[in-house]
Amino acid sequence: MKKVVKFGGSSLASARQFKKVGDIIRADKARRYVIPSAPGKRSSKDEKVTDLLYACYDAASSGESYKKILNKIKERYSEIINGLDLNVNLDHEFERIEDNFKKGVGRDYAASRGEYLNGILMAAYLGYEFIDAAEVIFFDDNGAFEAELTNRELSERLEHVERAVIPGFYGSKHDGTIKTFSRGGSDVTGSIVARAIHADLYENWTDVSGFLVTDPRIVENPEVIETITYKELRELAYMGASVLHEDAIFPVRREGIPINIRNTNRPEDKGTLIVESTCRKPRYTITGIAGKKGFCSINIEKAMMNAEVGFGRKVLGVFEKYGISFEHMPSGIDTMTILVHQDEFVEYEQSVIAGIHRAVEPDRVDLESDLALIAVVGRGMKATRGTAGRIFSALAHARINVKMIDQGSSELNIIIGVRNADFEAAVRAIYDIFIETEI
Ligand code: ADP
Ligand code: ASP
Ligand code: MG
Repeated sequence: MKKVVKFGGSSLASARQFKKVGDIIRADKARRYVIPSAPGKRSSKDEKVTDLLYACYDAASSGESYKKILNKIKERYSEIINGLDLNVNLDHEFERIEDNFKKGVGRDYAASRGEYLNGILMAAYLGYEFIDAAEVIFFDDNGAFEAELTNRELSERLEHVERAVIPGFYGSKHDGTIKTFSRGGSDVTGSIVARAIHADLYENWTDVSGFLVTDPRIVENPEVIETITYKELRELAYMGASVLHEDAIFPVRREGIPINIRNTNRPEDKGTLIVESTCRKPRYTITGIAGKKGFCSINIEKAMMNAEVGFGRKVLGVFEKYGISFEHMPSGIDTMTILVHQDEFVEYEQSVIAGIHRAVEPDRVDLESDLALIAVVGRGMKATRGTAGRIFSALAHARINVKMIDQGSSELNIIIGVRNADFEAAVRAIYDIFIETEI
């Protein structure tokens, strides 16, 4: 058995947390490849080392004093070294980092040092080999992840390595510069390593006892999802269920390796198993609810739109011209709505409207901003009648106005648009109708 284990920031935020992680790893011989994040928050008011590193780099590059922030970062690592009695000295690592800051080495380099240093400590603590992710995870010159090259090099490198620590979140471009994944990207590194070594399981250890039906910051103590499919998870992660990075399923999916989300603070809990497919019936009609604020809709009206071949292509061509991707596109006979991320759209708003006028001569174009999208996801919905009806009656009861509905043909999800201000109440209403009343 070979397992890859990734530990998130809060699991490695202090010496005390490191000890829990050490116990978890030592409890199972199969836990051979360890992916650490940078130290995260020790309490809700604390700071993540990654955020401190970004702040430090920004200060250094704008010529402001960065020493205070750098000292805070050093203190975080000293606490771990002293608390674990490690025979490691990071002084010259910090000197090198400071030199590189002064030379203006990139922002990604700065951010990646959180994982890099934590990896050195973790390797020393466990007595495992340390492998710098810059030597095994590759990005092309445009910064796109090179999946196949990485897989080849990493498999080869790990073939004869029994146990290793590989820091999460970053890799390198061909010219040697450091490049990171987007925030939360250590989850992706774990998945890449799991694929490369043909792991039996990818364990992702965090601060919750699994993938929860919805965001615990919105609903108090939501139920844990026991088993979820990659597809369902992808929908939920994309729509804001931040427990696992949305791209983390791709590498393991190719090999059919299951992911197990576990809680470092409650290792006895079974957590959530993420699989390709399963015969297990979901406990509830829906598997999960996730959502995000900050969307904007562009509503286009034109009489006889339905008869005009190429109408949709021409409209979407305008968005393409400005590099704006769209999220959803519900349409009627004479209307078409495009939903986009407000912050991506705002800069080009007037140019896009003018472009649509030129492209399709609509009767009217209007915009509605500050919308939230909620995804209700579940493989069980296909087999159940009345799911949409229950969602809308729950929202009506909560006096929430539904702005948009979109159901994919896979019947795996229903997307609902509401006002930003109604977002949390809408998630709670949907949770109540499907979970509380089905318990
Ligand atoms: P880590 O640092 O271990 O990678 P993250 O902070 O990235 O952890 O992810 C865990 C957090 O994700 C939880 O503490 C929780 O607040 C949040 N979260 C949001 N949606 C969900 C969900 N559906 N299930 C579980 N956690 C969720
Ligand atoms: N430390 C990085 C972040 O805070 C990556 C991660 O934790 O996965 O985004
Ligand atoms: Mg994370």
